[in-house]
Amino acid sequence: MSIIFLFIDGVGLAPAGENNPFSIAATPCLSGLLEGKKLTLEAADKIYDRAALLSLDATLGVGGLPQSATGQATLFTGVNAARVLGFHLRGFPVNVKLRKLLAEKGMFKHFLEQGRRCTFANAYRPEFFRHFTGKIRRTYSCSTLINYYAGLSFRGLEEMLAGQAVYMDITNEVLQKAGYDVPLISPQEAGKRLTAISRDYDLTLYEHFLTDRAGHSNDYASAEKVIRTFDAFLGEIVETMDAERDLLLVVSDHGNLEDLRTKEHTQNSVPALIVGKGNEEMAKVLQKKKDLTGILPAIEAWFEQNPYL
Ligand SMILES: [Zn+2]
Repeated sequence: MSIIFLFIDGVGLAPAGENNPFSIAATPCLSGLLEGKKLTLEAADKIYDRAALLSLDATLGVGGLPQSATGQATLFTGVNAARVLGFHLRGFPVNVKLRKLLAEKGMFKHFLEQGRRCTFANAYRPEFFRHFTGKIRRTYSCSTLINYYAGLSFRGLEEMLAGQAVYMDITNEVLQKAGYDVPLISPQEAGKRLTAISRDYDLTLYEHFLTDRAGHSNDYASAEKVIRTFDAFLGEIVETMDAERDLLLVVSDHGNLEDLRTKEHTQNSVPALIVGKGNEEMAKVLQKKKDLTGILPAIEAWFEQNPYL
């Protein structure tokens, strides 16, 4: 029994319309799970036959536009990081308070201490390992830091080539463009690999941030491409996971891509899409908080309800 946690950066829930690429792009997997609906505000806060979709508040009661460092720190610690700082912090958790929070309360450390096997499935580039001296760099993301502080190893391109890691862009296109001699893989193959990785763990995290990049670029064609790729990836995970035993959780940190009228983040709520075993129960736990702080306690409650086999 395990949880696959797909973190997708910069995806909010907005009403369907011409400015919302999620309501226009073909998303057969999402529409299948949402019984014909698209990943828009209208589909949220409902329990479907195979999935639940909740809207979570990403503003966290703090003024200004929600940002990545505080949003992700909140998702991965269960603590309202924007409140801790008093503002939303962009990009990377360069702030000492945020790093302390991630070091003390990071999801991986937390669940490892409970005897859970955790892994971060993303492949890192060789430069990351070359520069990895144990000193925290300013460009480390929240996910990198929770993995680091938990003492877990990082996967590289070698693991990726052996099918044991997935690059953040799903298909390796970004890696190829950056000059790496790696084969392109289909989103379906990437999805299959992620499911296979998750079988050896209780909690598997994968992070995808082309969604946020496409939102900042404000370009409809790239938005549609990113959404279709993600949907195909998701579809294969849903197909290959064991819905009787495993749970898939898809969550974002703040809105962006769902409103192409702006290149900035939005204050829209973000989706928590839950598929598989106990999705309805997890949705009920999340209903109580309905913001980014609810994710870690919801995972904890799922583990309690689904003890080791
Ligand atoms: Zn952003």
